[in-house]
Amino acid sequence: YLSGASLYGLDIAPLGLALSGAIFAWGLFRHRLFDLGLIAYERIFEGMREGILVLDRKERVVGMNPAMARILRRAGPDSAGKRARDLLVGNADLAALIDRGPPAAADVSMPAEGGERQYEASLSAIPGRGGKPLGSIVSLNDITLRVALAERLEALATVDGLTGVANRRAFLESADRELRRARRLGTPVSALILDLDEFKKVNDTFGHAAGDAVLKAAAGACARRLRSTDLFCRYGGEEFAVLLPGLGPREAAAAAERLRSAIASLGVDSPGGTLRATASFGCTGRFRLGEETMDELLREADEALYKAKAAGRDRVEAYGPAASGTDA
Ligand code: GH3
Ligand code: MG
Ligand code: MG
Repeated sequence: YLSGASLYGLDIAPLGLALSGAIFAWGLFRHRLFDLGLIAYERIFEGMREGILVLDRKERVVGMNPAMARILRRAGPDSAGKRARDLLVGNADLAALIDRGPPAAADVSMPAEGGERQYEASLSAIPGRGGKPLGSIVSLNDITLRVALAERLEALATVDGLTGVANRRAFLESADRELRRARRLGTPVSALILDLDEFKKVNDTFGHAAGDAVLKAAAGACARRLRSTDLFCRYGGEEFAVLLPGLGPREAAAAAERLRSAIASLGVDSPGGTLRATASFGCTGRFRLGEETMDELLREADEALYKAKAAGRDRVEAYGPAASGTDA
């Protein structure tokens, strides 16, 4: 206008201002230009401990937050535009989750410095206008500590603290499963109870710590001689129980005899000298299990144990009629 080049000598500045005003209004109200909220969202996204990966409709990477870049051990910006499948080449669990499509969730483990880490992973769709998804979001929440804690609690709840063998509760749970199996398959099953002899004397003579050492050694000696399919637990104070799937009464008595002789030949070093121990065993079993429960088998084994104690200890006694039965 000042140079005189303007059409008809018209000043178009007011027109231009009016037009840009309209454009700014559109930006302000429609796209929230200058809205601090967007910056806040971005800060939250960047600072989240949860790893976030944003994918487009074709499963290509749109972006990820620094937490995700650390988890995947990738530089975030370099990954933009890559296919998720290529990005997750070493993370089969996560790739499988994405293949399932949203919504999906799974616990995945991923390699990390200092060992594997566990994550709770979820895949959710980003809804677009008209219901058509714009893409999807993968989020990873580190649950390594929680998993370790759960495992620790599980161990505390199922393992005897002194001897490291199963406790009674865990034993009875697994034993029920084994009995159902034996019933279904028609296979033999037997049970033993063993009780250390005159154990009070060990404690009284050498002290409780020495008693503990003997308990540990006896439990270890038995555990080493049992098969991996046998169930073994500390049933109470100085009593242990064994379930022998696949063994009939005669074979069970032979197994008990091996455990008895293993305990009798133990020598446990202590400040008061080498400690020795013996144990008495009661056993019972079935070639074919009927409706008998673990409680009943243990009651029979306990009755046989009582016989072994009465007959002079350091011996194996079988329950009732099975004592003279044969396995065939
Ligand atoms: P028996 O031959 O008739 O079995 O005699 P016993 O002395 O072994 O029998 P009793 O049941 O009277 O005593 C068991 C003892 O086992 C009593 C208890 O002090 C001891 N005991 C139980 N649990 C533990 C333990 O965890 N550590 C130690 N050191 N001793 C224990
Ligand atoms: Mg005893
Ligand atoms: Mg006892």
